[in-house]
Amino acid sequence: MKKLVLMLVLLVSLGCLVLVMTYGRNQQKRNDDKSPTVSEAAGDSNSDEDDLSSLVNPTPEVPKAGAEDDLELVGDLTGSDGENPAGDAPKKTNKVIVLDPGHGGKRTGAVYFGVMEKDVTLKVANYCRAYLLNNYENVEVYLTREEDIATDPDIKVELEQRVIYAKEMDADVVVSLHFNSMESHLGRGAEVYCSRRENIKDATFELGEDVMAELVKLGITRRGVLSKKSNDMFDETGDPYDYYAINRHCSTYGIPGIIIEHCFMDNKEDAEFMSTEEALAELAAADARGIAKYLGLKKKSE
Ligand SMILES: [Zn+2]
Repeated sequence: MKKLVLMLVLLVSLGCLVLVMTYGRNQQKRNDDKSPTVSEAAGDSNSDEDDLSSLVNPTPEVPKAGAEDDLELVGDLTGSDGENPAGDAPKKTNKVIVLDPGHGGKRTGAVYFGVMEKDVTLKVANYCRAYLLNNYENVEVYLTREEDIATDPDIKVELEQRVIYAKEMDADVVVSLHFNSMESHLGRGAEVYCSRRENIKDATFELGEDVMAELVKLGITRRGVLSKKSNDMFDETGDPYDYYAINRHCSTYGIPGIIIEHCFMDNKEDAEFMSTEEALAELAAADARGIAKYLGLKKKSE
């Protein structure tokens, strides 16, 4: 009788051991299916709890669901979109371009020869986006406005919001699109404004030169790839911030951000570069090629 009881206890123990081992193996396989990321570590840290629960609860699915919730949380913290909680591809593969069509709504920008700057900047932005998406691989393009609107009654707030939006989109570059004018109406050519701030200066000037090179190919005069100091905003060392808000806010967020003044819309000869839809599309294509060069975008194969 004693022997029988001993045998029974031994058998039950063996059964338990097999159960635990099988579960352990399944757990191992689950982990193997995942790429070795931070998320996996988070899963492991829960494994003790899982094993304990599995002894009490014969269906191991409940603690596993809990563990996956945790994984999702880690995914969020590491910048994943949450749809891929295993953290398979947290790395961004696309280059993100944010185009900023200058002005909008009651802020018309310059108005000459029946043309409002806010309208042509939006057209160039749309042409530029189409050119980028049609011609290059692994690229995403977002516009700070899709319509004829001013997003905030305060221009200062609005300009900062445009850059905050770019930051939210995880932009690699911000390109603000404008057209120029001058009191004498004698100005001709393209200007690109870059940041003078150390953290972003080299990157913005490189981007600015790449865009300028393409505009010059259209026959537009090079006025300069420039930066402008603020006269009333300084950092703690006394170094002036950028004068233009887009440059200034982009520097704060560490995004290379430039302002393109394509040509002078108040000068009859320069206005030829923007007088038709085809001309606007040409300007946009030049912008796109410059941006693509800076970002090293790969052309789509024919
Ligand atoms: Zn403007």
